[in-house]
Amino acid sequence: MPDFIERSLETALTNCSRVGEMSIRRINGGGFVLSHCDDGGRDDLQCLQNPEEAVEIARYDDAGNYRPLKTAPNLRHGWRLELVDLGELRRALDYFYPGRFALFNAWKANLLVTTTLRDTLNRQSGMYRVAAKISDEQVNQVVGDFCRSSDGCLRTILWKRDATGAPASTQLPPEKFDTSHDQTGDGEPVIPLLCQEPCNLLVAECRKAVKLEGAAPSAPE
Ligand code: SF4
Repeated sequence: MPDFIERSLETALTNCSRVGEMSIRRINGGGFVLSHCDDGGRDDLQCLQNPEEAVEIARYDDAGNYRPLKTAPNLRHGWRLELVDLGELRRALDYFYPGRFALFNAWKANLLVTTTLRDTLNRQSGMYRVAAKISDEQVNQVVGDFCRSSDGCLRTILWKRDATGAPASTQLPPEKFDTSHDQTGDGEPVIPLLCQEPCNLLVAECRKAVKLEGAAPSAPE
């Protein structure tokens, strides 16, 4: 019998068939077929049937490069994953986009807590402590470049820059903060991939920006 999360997944899929770059299609008998959303018209896809196959699919991009950020818009093409029921679908989704569906449920129940970038940076230690020195102007630039949906990350940002409620970056379009928006740009109804707090990769980018600023030669007098 489906548990709460699986029933919630079934409800969410009533009105949409997209999660990130993944298309989800129901088949007769209660099963599902997952594929890359760009691969809808292809008949040469590698057919897979085990939800654990999602681990390997999600690991590398089309060029064979490791994907450190699973919500980056570079999901590998060329596969079709057939799953027998909601339980397998839930497992596969968690391999493709770890933790995102649990967060979606928390958000739907108004239980999701967000953390500002400043709070995230201020709690860093060791080599990442210096990242807290980043200026607001640099934050604007770094977040605008690193988190953008076109070539950075498909999550919808829910966190703020700091306790004043300033946006994460004014360089990102309003849709980047809109949970109903399809971040792939295809305009499909979606189960959003939510970003409730800045990730470690963004923290590393902030550190890099501070370090580069410190290493920049001073202007001649
Ligand atoms: S901070 Fe969030 S939106 Fe930005 S890259 Fe990391 S996971 Fe994606």
